[in-house]
Amino acid sequence: MANKKIVVGNMKMNLTAPEINKFLKVIEKKKYNNQVVFCPSSLYLPYFIGKGYDVGIQNIAAYENGAYTGEVSASQAKSMHLDYAIIGHSERREYFKETDEVVHQKISLALKENLKVILCIGETEEERDSLKTYKVLKKQVTNALKGFDSKELKKVTIAYEPIWAIGTGRVPSNDEIQDTISFIKEIVKGIASINISVLYGGSVNEKNITTLNQIESIDGYLVGGASTKAEKFMKIIEVVVNQ
Ligand code: PEP
Repeated sequence: MANKKIVVGNMKMNLTAPEINKFLKVIEKKKYNNQVVFCPSSLYLPYFIGKGYDVGIQNIAAYENGAYTGEVSASQAKSMHLDYAIIGHSERREYFKETDEVVHQKISLALKENLKVILCIGETEEERDSLKTYKVLKKQVTNALKGFDSKELKKVTIAYEPIWAIGTGRVPSNDEIQDTISFIKEIVKGIASINISVLYGGSVNEKNITTLNQIESIDGYLVGGASTKAEKFMKIIEVVVNQ
């Protein structure tokens, strides 16, 4: 049987504690059967843990433990019973200068702790315009996943997020997303002969989800802005879960 699609909410550095409490009151009316992953700011993770939701951290440290002020390690995340770690988000790559090597190291630490990984990849607008999308994606995937065996890679999901689509309201056509996802799946088959799950992320909202959800090869969505508004996020989830 095909895997069920998942919806991952990357809430980034948004919402205050009272706002999170309001959010929780709306979402707690539903059961999500492991199809929804909530990734709030690390400070609020305990509000989501142990309530039957799948929960993920937005980033982990590239080090095992020790004197790294402000960082959270993979083992700390696991010890709080988190399910997922988002790794290599374009905002981490851009603002915190995370290289493919750092991304690889973080994946390695997460897998060692048996966390599921959501690896983010995507091209800039300039790379897209100069027809370099596939080249860039191949490099990102290969550098991030080289050296892991198929058992480890089964714990990895890729989120394809064109950087020019994040937070902009612009979304590639369904055909473009379909082709790119198929390309990414082929790359991973070449590395480890497994069928990897690939999510789409970039301006997914309650209005475009029905159209996006017609894409055949898609395994789910990574949602940023719309995941911080409980009602909007619930509408997205409804479409995906009730498909
Ligand atoms: C993201 O940053 O992962 C994202 C998909 O953001 P948005 O949905 O706001 O474009």
